[in-house]
Formats: sequence, C-alpha cells, structure tokens
Amino acid sequence: MNESRRRSILCPGCRRLISGDEQVCPYCGISRPGSGITSFIWAGMNAWKQGAIKLIIGANIVLFVISILIGIKGTSFSIQPFSFLAPGNKVLILLGATGVFPIDSLHRWWTLVSANYLHGGLLHLVFNMLAFSQLGTLATREYGTSRMFVIYTAGGAAGFLISYVAGVSLTIGASAAICSLIGSMLYYGRSRGGVYGDLVYRRIGGWAVGIFLFGLLVPGINNWGHGGGLAAGIGLGYVLGYEEKRRESHLHRTLGGICAVLTMAVLFWASGSTIYYLVSGI
Ligand SMILES: [Zn+2]
Repeated sequence: MNESRRRSILCPGCRRLISGDEQVCPYCGISRPGSGITSFIWAGMNAWKQGAIKLIIGANIVLFVISILIGIKGTSFSIQPFSFLAPGNKVLILLGATGVFPIDSLHRWWTLVSANYLHGGLLHLVFNMLAFSQLGTLATREYGTSRMFVIYTAGGAAGFLISYVAGVSLTIGASAAICSLIGSMLYYGRSRGGVYGDLVYRRIGGWAVGIFLFGLLVPGINNWGHGGGLAAGIGLGYVLGYEEKRRESHLHRTLGGICAVLTMAVLFWASGSTIYYLVSGI
C-alpha cells in the first residue's frame, strides 16, 4: 500500500495546504513544491524579502569591520570626524575599491560591484547607512524587494562606471547606489503624480539637491558617481516599472537573484583574496 507515502505539506510558495506528491502547486503554480531543494530556495527568498534592507546594511558593516581589522596597522584613529576609523588605501584597494587605477592597472572590473560595500571611515558608513535605510525602505515599498536590489546594484555599478570613464582614479562608498535609489524614487514620484507622487518627488528632490550641494562644498566627493547613479536610477525605474504600474514578475525576481548571486560572489572573492594575499605575505 502506498497510503502511508501520501502526506500533506504547506506549499513553500503560497503557504497553502497541498499534497506532497503534487508536481505543480495547484494554487501558485511553482514546480515540485514537495522537494527539499524547492523549500530551501523559497525559505531563502522569503528571508530575503523580509530582511533585505538589514542584510544589505549588514554586508556593508561586515566589509567595514573586515577593512578595519585587516588594516589595523594602517587604520587612522585620528579624532577628526572624517578620518576616525579610516582604513588605509592599501586595504581598500585590496578589498575592491574601484576607479581608473584598479580597473586599468589591475584589470579588476568586478570592483564596480565591490566598491559599493566599502567605506572610508565610520562617519561615511553611518551617513550612508542612515540614508539607505530610509530610501531602501521607500523603494522596496514601491518597487518590491527584487527591483529595489536591481536598482541598488546596477545603479551603483553604473555610477562607478561613469566616474571611471570620467577619470576618477580611486573611489568607494554606497552613495552611488543610494543615488540610484533616489533617481528611481524621483521617477516614481513624477510618473505616479497625484498628492502622494508629488510629495515623494518634492521630498526626494530635496535629498538630491542636498547631496549635490554637499558634493560641491566638500572636497573628495565623487560627483560623477553620484550623478551617474542618479541618472541610472531614473532609467532603471522607467525600464523596470513600479508595483502600482507593473506587478513584480518572474523576470524581476530573476534579475534580483542574479544581482544577489553576483554581489555575494564578488564580496566573498574580494575578502577571501585579500585575506589570502595578506596571510601568504607576498
Ligand atoms: Zn503554492
């Protein structure tokens, strides 16, 4: 008798009760809902959906801690606010700072991704993460997690690509990616319109003006990266669309997944190769 093999499970995709023998969930259509691999993948996706902002902030903090610990000898403990807990340039280059030098001399194109997760000091990190937690939450609400992360990742890389073309030799920081989120929210506000759209547009527009004024007044800010990220974010918002206009599709989830795998691979490679380089003492 096969009776004992029949079991009911909760579909990992839609959380409805179905038979574990189904090849396709009759409610949400995901294939092989009873297999261990399917539930593993969906568990990961649900955790990501609920905690993407925290995970991204966590990755930035982990990379910052690594950069401080690895470069402890070169770390600045100056009490000047912008250089307190500042890892040295050598460590930042090893961990994947981007620009003309790393790309042309070291052929490290992957730094267009890794540089988004590196910061030049504690204050730099805190400012960027405070801005990101607000803008990332807002963008997730209107675009969903997958598209928010595509805008963050691709927009940050695009901003750094433009600053590379413009000749910036060495640069780091999440602000190009944050400017991409700003661009996507400007597009959203303008495209949606109405009372809420206008409110978002004016409020986010204020942020954009603030960032550019800051960039003009404070030396050493990568304005090409900021402007490039902003332009990329407007374009990505237009191409991907927001929830109210176009619901999250399989393509959006796939693109988000590609960005997540690529980012994890680059960050593991960047920190792993740095630790290997230092341990082997070349
Ligand atoms: Zn289902």
